[in-house]
Amino acid sequence: MIYYLTTILVYGGVDAIACLGLSQQFGVAGVTNFGFIIFQAAGAYTAGVLSLPNQSSNGGFQSYIGGVHLPFPLPWLGAAIVGGLLALPFSFLVGKRLRGDFAAIGLLVTAVMFNLLVTDYRPLFNGAAGLSLVPAPLGGVLNPQSGGYQWAYGIAAIVLAAIVYLFVRRITNSPYGRTLRAMRDNDIVADSLGKNLRSLRTEMLVIGGVIAGLSGGILVGFINLWDPQAWGYAETIVLFAAVIIGGLGNHKGAVLGAILVPLAFEEASRYIPAIGSPGLIPALQWVAIGLLIVLFLWFRPQGILPERRRKLSTLAAPPAAPAVLVGAAGPDAEIADLPSMPAPPGHIEHAAPVVSLARSSDVPGAEEVILEAQGLVREFDGVRAVDGVSIQIRRGSLTGLIGPNGAGKSTTLAMLAGTLEPTGGTILYRGEDITALPAFRRARKGLVRTFQLASEFKKLTVLENLVSAVPNQRGDSLGGALLGKRLWGAQERASIERAEEMLDRFGLRAYADRYAGDLSGGQRRLVEIMRSLMAEPEVLLLDEPMAGVHPRLARQIGHQLLKLCAEGMTIVMVEHELAIMDEFCDPVVVMAEGRVLAEGTMAQLRGRSEVVEAYLVG
Ligand code: ADP
Ligand code: MG
Repeated sequence: MIYYLTTILVYGGVDAIACLGLSQQFGVAGVTNFGFIIFQAAGAYTAGVLSLPNQSSNGGFQSYIGGVHLPFPLPWLGAAIVGGLLALPFSFLVGKRLRGDFAAIGLLVTAVMFNLLVTDYRPLFNGAAGLSLVPAPLGGVLNPQSGGYQWAYGIAAIVLAAIVYLFVRRITNSPYGRTLRAMRDNDIVADSLGKNLRSLRTEMLVIGGVIAGLSGGILVGFINLWDPQAWGYAETIVLFAAVIIGGLGNHKGAVLGAILVPLAFEEASRYIPAIGSPGLIPALQWVAIGLLIVLFLWFRPQGILPERRRKLSTLAAPPAAPAVLVGAAGPDAEIADLPSMPAPPGHIEHAAPVVSLARSSDVPGAEEVILEAQGLVREFDGVRAVDGVSIQIRRGSLTGLIGPNGAGKSTTLAMLAGTLEPTGGTILYRGEDITALPAFRRARKGLVRTFQLASEFKKLTVLENLVSAVPNQRGDSLGGALLGKRLWGAQERASIERAEEMLDRFGLRAYADRYAGDLSGGQRRLVEIMRSLMAEPEVLLLDEPMAGVHPRLARQIGHQLLKLCAEGMTIVMVEHELAIMDEFCDPVVVMAEGRVLAEGTMAQLRGRSEVVEAYLVG
């Protein structure tokens, strides 16, 4: 009986730890690692061979690597370290260029190959026989068969699970955790806001590996054997099921899932009478787990304990008047003047003109070309979407980019921002060739874009969306997150205040703590504009920022953009509405069929027949 209860404690602790690792890696950060189980297996193996004596000492009936007979707790530590190190080679799978599902498949294939290698190549891991006689921790000093030892082991497993819980919670509740969730919701957008996807995902693989490795180490010390059959890639599915059913992005849910799925299934198989052929019950278990996942994804995708909505706003009751509330989407919206933007790095200091309608030529340094494209080309499957575009963007200008659908405007913008790699051509930013620079590095230099399609972080609140874009956050790194709130709390409060000011100006204060994904189309556009401004851009690339926004509100946005330009920001804006171009943009670049057709003021362009024609034809 004691043995039974303590076994449940140990398995519960081990499963909870593994699920917490997966919860952090997959639930919070969206890194799909179908090879998760190999990290647990590697940890278990490592702990085994670190605690086993040299292989000749037991007659050499099993062969294994190592056999260094280290005292407890070094084998567990080694298990965690090896689990983490094993993740490093996979960092090449998780860059931006490879989509998430490719990485997931890559990891799955690796897991399968690992399993085959271990099972079939005896000299390395003792083949299908695995390891046995793995010494129990402190087995020389204490009696592993005693009830006291068993209880202590169970409690140790639970305590470690609690520590791992606190660890992942600390990571998730930090600005870094917010960045991870942003990456999960929309990685391309996170990239465009200066987040380094590859290093974020590598860190998540390593942390998941460390946690999984530790869980394996704890397990192997208890059951004293390491059987390669026990770590089949399908076991990963059980853990995924646990995390999905418990609640993605909720660590408490992961613990609940660990109790409900792996633990309950193991226990259930004890009590189900063996009917039919020997393999029938286990096979049915797999079917049941598969069904459970499908049912949950269908009927309750958020799981039993859904991810917690994080309310950051400093005021319980929003101060905004009802008229303004509706306003964000309706015609009566009023946008207050934007606060002056902090000067971006490298920005030329000057007294900002008070006149909001200042034209680009009024800005000191306006003649300077801040961003330049030379002969940009982009092919999609041999078709030239952009076919030799050369444009010069002057500092402080609000440059319009128009042209019929499919003209290549969005593609051009994406290449300028680094979201798309050009097939040919050069991009210069502040005189520097940035053609090969990844998007997140461009964003960190002040070159920030928005997207034509909705690109809010859906499962982040409006306020979180805004704050996520703030550059150089102290808590926006793994180290910063672990050091805790004392390091980043003050800066975080300042960022929230700035974001709330921004919300006030755009009349969206009442929506601060709502999920951005729940807003109307027009409101989401505003969130994106605000978020891009929070990134403190020097050059802002806007792809149809006013699409779906009421014309009256669109004009107010236009005025705000002009004001920002007068203060030294440079804006390139794709827009369909000619009236908007007329009123706000100078110069205007006309594109058609991947080329620049004409450039000048709207008045000049209206007089040119080929421009009019492009529009009539397009
Ligand atoms: P615009 O923004 O001016 O409407 P785009 O730059 O979005 O035009 O698209 C230009 C051309 O490139 C279109 O013909 C479009 O179908 C094509 N295109 C854009 N993105 C892709 C893609 N990811 N794959 C294939 N073709 C694309
Ligand atoms: Mg477009």
